[in-house]
Order: sequence, then C-alpha cells, then structure tokens
Amino acid sequence: MPAGSEALKKYPFLRGAEELVEGLSLTNLSDFPRVLELAEKKVRYMLGLSRERDDPTDKRDAVAAFSASLAMASATGSRRLIRSYASALSRELEKELSTDAPDIYKEVAASLGVPVEFDGKEFRMSLLDYLSLKGIDNEPDLLLPQLKVERGVVYFQVNVFRRLISTVFRRTLVEKMESQMRELSAATIDPKVKDAIASISAEFSKRRGEEVDVSSLSPIESLFPPCVKFWTSEMNKGINIPHQARFLVATFLLSIDMSVDDVLKYFSHTPDYDERIARYQIEDLAGQRGSGKKYSVPRCETLRTSGVCTCRQGLCQHMTHPLLYYKISIQKRLNGDPNAGRDCAGSLS
Ligand code: SF4
Repeated sequence: MPAGSEALKKYPFLRGAEELVEGLSLTNLSDFPRVLELAEKKVRYMLGLSRERDDPTDKRDAVAAFSASLAMASATGSRRLIRSYASALSRELEKELSTDAPDIYKEVAASLGVPVEFDGKEFRMSLLDYLSLKGIDNEPDLLLPQLKVERGVVYFQVNVFRRLISTVFRRTLVEKMESQMRELSAATIDPKVKDAIASISAEFSKRRGEEVDVSSLSPIESLFPPCVKFWTSEMNKGINIPHQARFLVATFLLSIDMSVDDVLKYFSHTPDYDERIARYQIEDLAGQRGSGKKYSVPRCETLRTSGVCTCRQGLCQHMTHPLLYYKISIQKRLNGDPNAGRDCAGSLS
C-alpha cells in the first residue's frame, strides 16, 4: 500500500511511490511543466548551483520530481555529478530522518531493501543481513567493531542507524543513476529537457572545474582544519593522543595525497612511537595492505560525538567534513581572505 502523503513528500522513494508516476520519462517530461520545473530546481539546489528551493506541496509532484531529477542527473552522463547529487540527497535524507520519530526508519529502510526491527530503543538486524549490505565499508561508525553484536544479531543506536540508511541510500542512488545513464539514449530525450540537462551539466562542470583540487597542492598546514592542527600540535609536544584522533590525522593527511613517509613524520614524536608498527598501520589506512581498502576521513558529526572535534566557531559552526574545511580555506586564501584557516586559532597552544 502506498505510504501517506506527508511521508511521500519527505521520502518520495518509499515503497509504492513509483505507482504514482508510471509512464513518466524524459521523453514526455515537458508535458508536465511543473514536474520539470521542480526536478530542475531540485538538482540545481542540491548541487549548490542555485539557492532557490521549491518543495512540492503535492505527493504526486514530489514523487514525480524526485524520479525525474534522478533521470536528469543520469542524463548528464557525468559520474562526478551523479555522485555529488547522490551525496547531497543522502545528506538531506539523514536530516529529514533526524526530525522524525524512529518508527518511520523501518519503512524507509524497507524501501531500500534493508530488513530491520526496532524495539523502541535500538534497531537490530541479523548478522547475515548486515553482511550483505553494500557501501558501508568507508563509514567507520558502521563497521562491526563499533557495533553491538550478540548471538548473530547486530544492534544500532538510532543515530547510527540513521547514518546506515543514508549510506545505503547514497549507494542505491548511485547504482540506479549509473544504470539509467547506460540505458539512456540522447535521441529519446525531449529537446526542452535536453536543454535543461545541458545547462545543469555546463554549470556544474564550470563550478567544479574552478574548484581547487586539494590533492594537487602541497599541504598547507596553516589551512588544516582546527581539529587536525590541534592533534598534530599535541603529538609534536610528545603527548599521547586518543585512537580516534590518530585515525583522523592519518586519514586526513593521506587524503590530501601525502606519502606514507611524510605522514609518519607527524607521528614520530608520540611517546609510544614504533616506526615498524606505525608504518604498517598507516599503509593499512592508505589501502596499501590486506584488502586494499582506503579509509576515509570521518565526518565532523562523528568527530564531535567521539570528542575529537576541537572547534565550534566560524566555519566550524556548520562544518560537515574536515576536508571540506580545508578546501574552503584554500579557496578563501586564494581570494585573499587573511582569516582563512584561523578558526579557533586562539585555542591552539
Ligand atoms: S567542525 Fe569539523 S573541521 Fe571543524 S574542528 Fe570540528 S571536526 Fe574539525
């Protein structure tokens, strides 16, 4: 049975939603001008190409605009745009869920093929179902060592499960859009829709083309996020820092393309430093050992929860990721801003 109107407006991918938009495609989208307008605005807003937000008031429009927006993003043929759009939608989903009672999570999870039970306090799923989840490997909070596992059942706190849903959602969207991208033929797209897609694609490329590629620059320590500055300065003083802080420092430095040897130098002043062990651990984080998996820098929310975040002012007030902080600070510096990278500077000793 299709979900209720309010739920579908917030979560236009719930089970039964597609029944509402059968027959809608990029071939006939311009026959539905309001849907085309909503879909285009959604893609632009979520990709940061426009500040204009236009939320549908009708559930049918919401579902149609969501579905059309995915098709439009796919039709750009850009994997980078598709991944950015999926990430923005998954962040939005996590935000929406955080304003809802956990009861809806089960319905949202079921739409994504994630079977789960909720006991009013924790979510739980069988270990087998957990192991079949895709796309969670880069989220340290979602890995088994961080979770409660008892007798073949995995338990999740509400906020952790929210992260799990948004991670699976992102992966599902990327797979769906990449598959649409392979199937779409330019000839089947309505010319008006094609124009909208071309314009989104051009603006996105221009915007991204102008962005700084942080991995192509030499590391600029003065622009590192406050948390990385703080913990590296603690290590320099020979202070033993927590595991989560070491993880942050190592993954951050590796993400801006520092070599394992250079990353090791940051750790060489810690009291328990053993080069052989440290090298092994950093090579592992860099994906140069074992499974070959490269670990990601944790998000600010995770770092706040684990007490590793060290700043709540300026850019950090609303920051979502340490790498984003670094990227923005570089852009600010290039624009001549003398305060770039100086958030919470006074708290560093
Ligand atoms: S808000 Fe993010 S970038 Fe800023 S100090 Fe905290 S964890 Fe680091």
